[in-house]
Amino acid sequence: MTEEKVEMTEEKAKPANFIEKIIQDDLAAGKHTSITTRFPPEPNGYLHIGHAKAICVNFGLAQQFGGQCNLRFDDTNPEKEEDEYVQAIQDDVTWLGFEWGDKIHYTSDYFDQLHEWAVLLIKEGKAYVCDLSAEQTKEYRGNFEKAGTNSPFRERSIDDNLALFEKMRAGDFDEGACGLRVKIDMAAPNMSLRDPYIYRIKKANHHQTGDKWCIYPSYDFAHGQSDAIEGISHSVCTLEFADHRPLYDWFIANLPVPATPHQYEFGRLNINYTVTSKRKLRALVESKVVNGWDDPRMPTISGMRRRGYTSNAIRNFCDSLAVAKTDGTVDVAQLEFFIRDDLNQNAPRAMCVMDSLVVEITNVAEDFKEIIPNVPYLQDREELGSRNLTFSKYIYIEKDDFKEEYSKKFKKKFCVGKRIRLRHGYVLEAERFDTDEAGNVSRVYATLIENTLGCDPEDGNKPKGVVHWVSTQDSIVTELRNYGRLFKVEDPEADGDFAANINEDSLIHNLKAQVEGSMRNAKPETVFQFERQGYYVADRFDHTNEKPVFNLTIGLREDKSLTK
Ligand code: ATP
Ligand code: MG
Repeated sequence: MTEEKVEMTEEKAKPANFIEKIIQDDLAAGKHTSITTRFPPEPNGYLHIGHAKAICVNFGLAQQFGGQCNLRFDDTNPEKEEDEYVQAIQDDVTWLGFEWGDKIHYTSDYFDQLHEWAVLLIKEGKAYVCDLSAEQTKEYRGNFEKAGTNSPFRERSIDDNLALFEKMRAGDFDEGACGLRVKIDMAAPNMSLRDPYIYRIKKANHHQTGDKWCIYPSYDFAHGQSDAIEGISHSVCTLEFADHRPLYDWFIANLPVPATPHQYEFGRLNINYTVTSKRKLRALVESKVVNGWDDPRMPTISGMRRRGYTSNAIRNFCDSLAVAKTDGTVDVAQLEFFIRDDLNQNAPRAMCVMDSLVVEITNVAEDFKEIIPNVPYLQDREELGSRNLTFSKYIYIEKDDFKEEYSKKFKKKFCVGKRIRLRHGYVLEAERFDTDEAGNVSRVYATLIENTLGCDPEDGNKPKGVVHWVSTQDSIVTELRNYGRLFKVEDPEADGDFAANINEDSLIHNLKAQVEGSMRNAKPETVFQFERQGYYVADRFDHTNEKPVFNLTIGLREDKSLTK
């Protein structure tokens, strides 16, 4: 595997990738006057980060060259497909910021046409109904070293084949009893040309066509012809389909299709510390290792969304990747770089005390309360708004921000006799503290230093550190869901059993964090930087004004210990 490199260059300066070059040449040569691409997911699961790359490539090319990108559900397999996935995929593409034009396409829209073409191939002596069992088919197929053997059913008459195929369609045979194959070459070095099946019997209800069909075309038989029907000028997919290209080209050459699409393949995106395969992701969902496809630990688009990753950051990440002719494994840190970069620039800041310690301010009255007005959520970003902070006699600070004994190592912390600045607030000086039965600090008593809101103390004794805090009068107990990596190891599939490499501690709840009162108004899916702590998103589904729930999106800095 090769590593893909981040290209941090300005977009304009970025050299064209091989597909862009082909398109530029095709347009310049007049081969095409406009371009149409497509993104063809199979609705058998939710989309993941690998699909995000395919989406960015396909929709991105269309945008770049003023063309169109179709969303086509590749729904040839009724057994594994569901409506839920069809809906989720549309939501994901839209959320990523792309549009697919007037209508959604389904391969099943072409089932009539594909059936007609299958009949045509039979009529031309190019397809036959074969009764070999799955096992026999495998035996007859040979392998890479050994040529295959012709099926004993290969020379059936055209009339017999037409009648048998019609019986297949009418439901007269059981599943597996027979199938329709194209007659190409059982000795072809490319195994996909050894008389592949193009229609199989499946007595399953289809989410689009209901029970109209009990025979379904193979993915290979549908792929190129669907592209031709839709007038796809550049059919872009991943490398694993390269071996099938001669077969697609055979269908295009042997059928009266309205256009001749051409397929180009680029490398699949893999990311370390995760798996990118719908089948494996489904296993995680079904075994309840995660709480559904949109669990914030999942590398699905909906999981990343719920985690607080922004579509902007995901697009930037995808655009940074090479579109190359080799598969690549990318370091997850590269994705996280783009998440942080976006949030650092755009996330409003707020205060949240994770593990609280009460500070009592001794030189103010019991009912003291002051509103610190119009504190911006983000400096120099007025459009993100501001809030009023409540300051009162009792506040919470982080336990870890107070030290019983002063040491140089803790010079930015709060200690008896030392000063600290409250973020957006006053300077305090610690006088003394109480301890509980276990000997832990349970309360700190401090003096408010007057006239220090936005200015240094008049006596010149400046605090060294700034701490976040909330007022006990205006804070809300919050549920924090601290997410870590779902897998403990870089390559979860290295030993063949990805389930064994799951990180048991990938979700740690904090049920006692205190957020500032303004978080009552936090909208689901808004990501905040909780100052000095990390980026947290108001959960898309569970967050309410009365009971806030925030998910850890990502820490403030890369945690090297995670990747070592
Ligand atoms: P999975 O193995 O996860 O089911 P798939 O390739 O079967 O993936 P499809 O729904 O068939 O998933 O994929 C739709 C499109 O997305 C295809 O064109 C495919 O090439 C592309 N794609 C899928 N996975 C990746 C990936 N990891 N990197 C880049 N493109 C991908
Ligand atoms: Mg697939």
